[in-house]
Amino acid sequence: MSFTLHGLGVSGGIAIGHAHLLTSASLEVDHYSIPEEFIGREVRRFDKGVKQVRAELDALERNLQTSQRGDATSDMAAFVTVHRMILDDATFSDAPREIIKREACNAEWALKLQLDELLAHFAEVQDEYLRERKTDVRQVAERVVAALTGQGGVVPEKLRARAEDTILVARDLSPADVILFKDHKVAAFVTDLGGQTSHTAILARSLAIPAIVALHTSRELVREDELIIIDGTQGVLIVEPDETVLAEYRLKQSQWKLERQKLSRIKTAAADTLDGTHVELHANIELPGDLDSVKASGASGVGLFRSEFLFMNRKDLPPEDEQFEAYKHVAEGMKGKPVVVRTLDIGADKSLGGPDQGPAHSALGLRAIRYCLAEPQIFNTQLRAILRASRFGDIRILIPMLVSANEITQTFAAIARAKEQLKQEGKKFNDNILVGGMIEIPAAAIALPMFLKHLDFISIGTNDLIQYTLAIDRTDDTVAHLYDPLHPAVLLLISSVIRQANDAGVPVTVCGEMAGDVQLTRLLLGFGLRDFSMHPANLLLVKQRVLMSNLPDILPIANRILKADDPDKLRALVAKLNV
Ligand code: PEP
Ligand code: MG
Repeated sequence: MSFTLHGLGVSGGIAIGHAHLLTSASLEVDHYSIPEEFIGREVRRFDKGVKQVRAELDALERNLQTSQRGDATSDMAAFVTVHRMILDDATFSDAPREIIKREACNAEWALKLQLDELLAHFAEVQDEYLRERKTDVRQVAERVVAALTGQGGVVPEKLRARAEDTILVARDLSPADVILFKDHKVAAFVTDLGGQTSHTAILARSLAIPAIVALHTSRELVREDELIIIDGTQGVLIVEPDETVLAEYRLKQSQWKLERQKLSRIKTAAADTLDGTHVELHANIELPGDLDSVKASGASGVGLFRSEFLFMNRKDLPPEDEQFEAYKHVAEGMKGKPVVVRTLDIGADKSLGGPDQGPAHSALGLRAIRYCLAEPQIFNTQLRAILRASRFGDIRILIPMLVSANEITQTFAAIARAKEQLKQEGKKFNDNILVGGMIEIPAAAIALPMFLKHLDFISIGTNDLIQYTLAIDRTDDTVAHLYDPLHPAVLLLISSVIRQANDAGVPVTVCGEMAGDVQLTRLLLGFGLRDFSMHPANLLLVKQRVLMSNLPDILPIANRILKADDPDKLRALVAKLNV
């Protein structure tokens, strides 16, 4: 049966391929013993997992009541009710607790033992309808295991074995999962959770593969190996399309590819507006292997190297020499063009290690520079590696999430310490290395002079600036619709940071997702921005827009936008900028 689901398109393009459902591997659980004194705690962990799934099902139910999405809403409502009943049944929610106590085993294993027993009973049931409920029982168990383990993730070995037209369908994917797709190609992915500027979505755009998040029900409704179409621009997923629809999307797909190819003609052109204003367009990268796409985009440097991706999908920390080689590789590859290495921004939706390392810190917690200052050894290793690589090109240091004067002082002290160590060891580095800071917390944007005084340059992280200004978790699909780069408060903060930095003669870049959104290019130019950093996949599109822009036309409209407080009027003015 063909049907359509709608979500949030976070990375454009069309993919046509076969579905591969993720998380079925989550029932391949570990078995380990729990010491007597920790049995109570393990039972509580199981209860917490069940409680979390109950909350998830409640949210799904609420969502279905208010949603107009998809053709399958009533089927889904029935399905959620069945899952609630299964979860609330004592054979499911109580029996594993007894098994934990009796067998002194971990919660996942207890659940698996109970599930095996339940499934064995199903095999004997004569009634076909009841026999069919076996899949539901298994899905509920998967949900609980995912809650206990913090999500069943991508298994690289399984991915490698799959064809390149594979489209991954998952409840959620972590940034650590998605970064694996750089080595194991997939055509597209869709998730039921997630937001527009979660790192999962950002990675999809940097991989230039179509992606949809916040589909809510795809993991339940799509079946393994089904033929599906993903339209990442419109946020549409079509299951088992008929021949006419298939032909239409094949055409759209080749048009999309053709337009992208045509853009390569402006790769070497200088990014100058019609009135002759020069604009710098830099690239954001996650790993040294991204250099090829940076070169293909004609970027004038790397404006943001998210170094934390060097720390993911591994059990240990990358040693100094390994980090040094990575930074040196990028510096040399860019042949003297600037390379801005952001120090470790771990926390929030990015955790050290792999996707199975448990939940990361909260977005308001021990993240980025806060984490580094709390872990001086890890910070020192990274600073030494960056400094040592600095003599192989134009490397600059960027500090994420600065908010207080104290952090600036401590950071400079840490850099001075690393320099002093290297001097004593006779190791060479660029003593005049530039040090900049991300402006991504509203407090930093408001108290900007404090930062401009100390930093060589600033980079506006609009993803977090929006998240913290509007109090919207960028990874949470339930509030994704409230995430608004055009909120007047956001625009006032961004424009005031750009203006103050320009007045003070401190170079300013925007490196958040707004910089790569071609609909916002002219607005940012109108605010005075002359330096953009974005994922390479969008760079030529933005360049095309710069080439077709005339600042004297833009400025009066940008000023009116800053004064507009009516959302419709504001959007109409942004649309006017783009005609
Ligand atoms: C930002 O917050 O805008 C940013 C560029 O950094 P990240 O997305 O990695 O948090
Ligand atoms: Mg950020």
